Amino acid sequence: MSNIVAIPELSILEWVDGLLRNTGEYVPGPIDILKVNDFLNLRLHDYDLREIKKEVAPGEQLELRGILDINEKAVILDINEPNLHRKLFSNGHEIGHYVLPTHREILYQCSELDMKQSTHDIMEIEANQFSAHLLFKGTLFQEYTRDFHEAASTTVSHIASQFETSLTSTCRRFIESTHLPAAMLVLNKDMEGSVWVAYTVVSDEMRKRYFSSIGSVGEAEELFANAMAATALEPHTFKVTIKYGGENSHLFKCEFFNNTYQAIGLITPVL
Ligand SMILES: [Zn+2]
Repeated sequence: MSNIVAIPELSILEWVDGLLRNTGEYVPGPIDILKVNDFLNLRLHDYDLREIKKEVAPGEQLELRGILDINEKAVILDINEPNLHRKLFSNGHEIGHYVLPTHREILYQCSELDMKQSTHDIMEIEANQFSAHLLFKGTLFQEYTRDFHEAASTTVSHIASQFETSLTSTCRRFIESTHLPAAMLVLNKDMEGSVWVAYTVVSDEMRKRYFSSIGSVGEAEELFANAMAATALEPHTFKVTIKYGGENSHLFKCEFFNNTYQAIGLITPVL
């Protein structure tokens, strides 16, 4: 078993762009994944992946979402996966393993099920990056979002329906790509009712002009409840002054909505 050298994300993006151009998919809108599978001569199968189990550590099982059989040129997806976004993402992930040269080389030697953990970890991250770029149409996404002059939840909702991607991943990708100052706050709630910040994403422009991490914008439990009663098209909206960098403060607009199980907050400066 050989070691893998990590591929820079920019190179992964180049591979995705090449594939999109070759399949006529370098256009705004949802990815036609079947077209991409066809172009690569990859056959798609549904299978009950619960029957295949990989032990990660003693007693611990890894949940399999997809398998690439490189010799048979086949992608096998879990028949039990009800979430179509996730299934699409898994297909993109396996395409990544198939297309990226270092992955191919290793997968010819051993399957994902029996390779070294460190190699597996790197390949998983890269295949996930590949899939996310594929679903959001590579560099085209940045060109596409350049035309939006407002980072609002309605904008995110519009892009998500345009690309047929989930609200959460769309909001995240939008903030990572936009030239506008914007930040995203994702809140989780546990069985006991405690709410906490799962993660935040801050755009480059937000970081440059204001701050690189978001503090509190309100009482977490209350925000979560309000977000759960709202939608991206009709978000729970309020304004709040946020202090940053010691002496500075600015007025920000907060829009909260949900993805059915998490609260998503979009924070933009009031200009
Ligand atoms: Zn994988």
